[in-house]
Amino acid sequence: MATKVIVNIPGEESYDVRIGASALDSLGRRMRGVPALGQAERALVVTDSNVAPLYRDRAKESLAAAGFRTSDIVVPAGEDTKSVEVAGELWEAMAQLKLGRDCVVVALGGGVVGDLAGFAASTYMRGVTLVQAPTTLLSMVDSSVGGKTGVNLAAGKNLVGTFKQPAYVCADTGTLATLPEREWTCGCAEIAKSAVIDSDEFFFWLVDAADALAAREDGAVSEAIARSVVFKADVVAQDKTESRGVRECLNYGHTLGHAVETLAGYGTFSHGAAVAEGMRFAARLGAELVGASADFVTAQDDLLDALGLPALAWSAEPAALLDAMKRDKKARRGQVRFVLPRDVGAWELLDVDDAVILEHLDAWAR
Ligand code: NAD
Ligand code: MG
Repeated sequence: MATKVIVNIPGEESYDVRIGASALDSLGRRMRGVPALGQAERALVVTDSNVAPLYRDRAKESLAAAGFRTSDIVVPAGEDTKSVEVAGELWEAMAQLKLGRDCVVVALGGGVVGDLAGFAASTYMRGVTLVQAPTTLLSMVDSSVGGKTGVNLAAGKNLVGTFKQPAYVCADTGTLATLPEREWTCGCAEIAKSAVIDSDEFFFWLVDAADALAAREDGAVSEAIARSVVFKADVVAQDKTESRGVRECLNYGHTLGHAVETLAGYGTFSHGAAVAEGMRFAARLGAELVGASADFVTAQDDLLDALGLPALAWSAEPAALLDAMKRDKKARRGQVRFVLPRDVGAWELLDVDDAVILEHLDAWAR
């Protein structure tokens, strides 16, 4: 059975996120129900080299059946594709295809495709309609909702981008059957992050559902996605452009997580494994600085374990980790800012002194 979440962000058209085991088959029909797409003639599917052989034809058939004239562009799979160069290739290809302002771009794939195609859609002819069709758990629970698009520069990830809300999001959970385990747990880490920040209700539901989720049972998967989307949409609705300090809660676990990812060398640990490690660290820092309880720290550890995100075996020089955290674009005025949980559903943003961070890293990272 399919679930629908309606995303309502002030100042934007509201949009539906459809979550279900064969949502891709009704993609075209549902898009026709979106006012901006009722009359659209052409749809461009942007996808990557892993996803294209698996799901491109189904997406295109659904679009064609709804009367869209379809084209597709396949980009190489992988983070390197989120570049200015590939964005430029997309713009050129769109112009070659003579796509006009009334076309729609359908991003079919993970967060890489979503961010890249979203960026191209929001800039080509000053912006054409975007539909997200996420095929990774991470993109279903996180990147396809909220409107951030972007590409990486040599100087860092996501340094160029736009805010562009999609007109429709089609999360076909059936596509997750082919997702590699490593990518699966990346999505689980973002779900766990959302649950800890959101509420007791979400957190304890997830604790109960963790085994079913790890076994990829569709009911649990769909509900975890729906709950995460509701959570993210609510945060984004309060802080659409990340200017009010609310959206920063989505960065929970990412402060140390990004540093771990960078220092270990991109690809050594998955993003999710690194974020989970960052959550474990932030919870302990939270216990020291904002009064999180030992029970909370243990409950979060247990949840991450159950979701297939065990503590990492790694070590790093605390000074190097601190340095990497300071180079992150989210660091402020030379101090590292952490999202620190006080408890499930309660958090604070805190600029933490170097000496305190180093002391904790010393105990944690060796
Ligand atoms: P990804 O897009 O690289 O996908 C991971 C891998 O899975 C790729 O190799 C892809 O080809 C493959 N794949 C995708 N769907 C598949 C399927 N159904 N079956 C088999 N293989 C499949 O990575 P991701 O984790 O989805 O996204 C990460 C990106 O998202 C990063 O660039 C990150 O910066 C971005 N992101 C953006 C936001 C946002 O708000 N815009 C939020 C979080 C992350
Ligand atoms: Mg993340």
